[in-house]
Amino acid sequence: MSKEQAVYDVLVKSGFKVRRGNGNLSIPCPLAPYSALHKSDRDRRASMGIKVTDTAVLVNCFTCGFKSGQISYLYKKLAYHNHAWKPAVDHCIELEKNFLAMGMASLASQGYFKKQEKQVQVTEEQWQPYANKFSRYLLTRNISLETGKRWGVGLDEQSNRVMIPIRDFKGKLFGAVGRAVSDKMQPKYLNYWQFKKSNHLLGAHLINTNKKIIVVEGSLDAMRADEAICRAGLSDEYAVVSILGSRISDKQCELIRACGLEVIIALDYDQAGYDGTKLAYSKLSKMLITKVACIGDVGQKDFGECADQQIISVITNSKHWSI
Ligand SMILES: [Zn+2]
Repeated sequence: MSKEQAVYDVLVKSGFKVRRGNGNLSIPCPLAPYSALHKSDRDRRASMGIKVTDTAVLVNCFTCGFKSGQISYLYKKLAYHNHAWKPAVDHCIELEKNFLAMGMASLASQGYFKKQEKQVQVTEEQWQPYANKFSRYLLTRNISLETGKRWGVGLDEQSNRVMIPIRDFKGKLFGAVGRAVSDKMQPKYLNYWQFKKSNHLLGAHLINTNKKIIVVEGSLDAMRADEAICRAGLSDEYAVVSILGSRISDKQCELIRACGLEVIIALDYDQAGYDGTKLAYSKLSKMLITKVACIGDVGQKDFGECADQQIISVITNSKHWSI
């Protein structure tokens, strides 16, 4: 069954009056009873447009402004107001899981991954010498052995670098970020196997279903935030990825759209982070509900410096933004 047909069936089963248009589906906005922007409980204009693509299901209500990159997020909103929608949420998440691999294959066929697949062939054998080794340095950065294992970190014993692998959604290896275990060592970061940073999301291999995606700059920030999220029991809701710098690329935005229900930008609290936030917001807010988290609110520069409760507070207090 095609993805559009699958989405169509879900909408019909939900009792929505679905119209098929020019490459689009439209329905009366089911959020009308819950939004003051809809003047009545019934949306008579079929305000909600739904466009099914290989990597996303773009939902957009032109009356209340609801926007999402996946259909399950609409049902989550409905379930928030009325628990009867909960089975539909589960159904949509299952559907999205099935189509996630297909979406990735489609991105690959559009050439998104072609370049580095040709340039860099990193095999598990190449990774083996570094695998399953945990540096105590991570403990000094408040990253536990358990989190290290979860992320599949390694260690380059010769050059004294913690290695954090770069893998795609399916777990395929493209390279690794090597962090010096001492601040005296230069450079602080070294990339292994010359992967192209802008083509990847560090942490993608931990995402197996659509979630709210938290975007951070550094690899250690991502692991630190992931640890706090797991400990708080929120890992079903959130996933963290690092864009390996402060400037998000178009390819990284595409990848986030493919796995994100909404996105929370949590870049460093400094000038580069602010400029990066503006850039990321302008790109991502066209695709997904986009919020901005301010790490400065808890008096820190990045998640790497934060205690667990500070991280959770920053994430749950993220807000819509106006530039
Ligand atoms: Zn609406």
